[in-house]
Amino acid sequence: MNTMTNDLSGVVAADRAHVWHHLSQHKQYETVDPRVIVEGKGLRVWDAKGKEYIDAVSGAVWTVNVGYGRESIAKAVADQLVKMNYFAGSNGTVPGALFAEKLITKMPGLSRVYYSNSGSEANEKVYKMVRQISHRHHGGMKNKILYRERDYHGTTIGTLATSGQAERAKQYGPYPDGFVMVPHCLEYRKQWDVANYGERAADAIEEVILREGADTIGCLVLEPVTAGGGVIVPPKGYLAAAYAHVRKAGGLCLADEVQVGFGRIGSHMWAFEAQGVVPDIVTLGKPIGNGHPMAAVITTPAIANAFANGMEYFNTFGGNPVSAAIGLAVLDVIRDERLMAHCQAMGERLMDGARELAKRHEAIGDVRGLGLFNGIELVQDRATLAPAPDLLARVITRMKQDHQILLSSEGPLHNVLKIKPPAAFSAADCDRFLHGLDQALAAG
Ligand code: PMP
Repeated sequence: MNTMTNDLSGVVAADRAHVWHHLSQHKQYETVDPRVIVEGKGLRVWDAKGKEYIDAVSGAVWTVNVGYGRESIAKAVADQLVKMNYFAGSNGTVPGALFAEKLITKMPGLSRVYYSNSGSEANEKVYKMVRQISHRHHGGMKNKILYRERDYHGTTIGTLATSGQAERAKQYGPYPDGFVMVPHCLEYRKQWDVANYGERAADAIEEVILREGADTIGCLVLEPVTAGGGVIVPPKGYLAAAYAHVRKAGGLCLADEVQVGFGRIGSHMWAFEAQGVVPDIVTLGKPIGNGHPMAAVITTPAIANAFANGMEYFNTFGGNPVSAAIGLAVLDVIRDERLMAHCQAMGERLMDGARELAKRHEAIGDVRGLGLFNGIELVQDRATLAPAPDLLARVITRMKQDHQILLSSEGPLHNVLKIKPPAAFSAADCDRFLHGLDQALAAG
């Protein structure tokens, strides 16, 4: 940390005066004066006064999965910038071809990669594909996109039309037609009192399909593990049953792996694999570039060809060779450092520890997650499940101020503590987190 010898008060003043901070998430850094973050290494970040924090949310929105300050990534960027920094959009560059080739070896059954700039753009592109395929093959009728309560897919008008988090979408309407919501599958907050919850929640999708008309259904978009909606791991068998219903109606299945992908669930590279399904289309983002803006749509040749009809969908920066070089370097880190096995081991330690805490702290209603992609739901009452958002806000502040651990909340009830640290999260970091949480909850 050599920046600490510099006086950064001017930078902090400029940030306050001129940078447009409109998100509540920005407040995460506000009480640790100053909120400007200057350096990062592994999972540690330093603010402008040199104070060190553990970042337990990977850059606030689960993005910096392989950690801050990676020299192999920096070298890949520098080398590629000098060699060939950009040419003709995403086509015909060496890293673009090599990264696509590597990605598809990890993507069962899918073999065409289209690079985008953001998760929103990747999903929006899929929605356009669905509509175009409908026009070309179904007289424009098979264009409805089903999305799920609590899921999130982006910030464009099209992707906000599929926001399962109503508060994110309000006041931006009117939205285009053809987007239809299905119920979520969070068993903790039961909508149906049945033994096989996964099957029941999937049947709820079929009910919507039948109501709307099977011949109108173009696609179902789901997060295989819901992230911002409160870390929801689907019940066993859910995705397979849901996909079967959609396919019976002749629709496509899109897995939005923008947040949960790239091995953080530990057992698999992609969360859809944990449910034993193969989607028709997958979108990737955030951790694909470890903080560098990049995303991708991956699909079958047949679907890609159905879209390639001369409509010339184009974006300027998608898949530029520097981004692709970063993607390659990120995959190398995941492989060389065996990060998936590490995430699995640390995730188990974290969730076991949190379940132990639940024995002492009534406020812990539910502990859930896969690998290092976790949520702890806080409630006022375990019987009524009344949410405890105010307690969670106090816990987050205490964790930051007393234990120097940055965290944030998720879910429509603002009561799910999200824990998604960069993979450098060690056993010692895990124990420090659990100790801090124990104290913060005890303080009430
Ligand atoms: N899908 C999911 C599941 C996400 O979490 C996000 C970002 N929060 C997006 C899509 C949109 O990605 P971006 O912010 O890169 O547009």
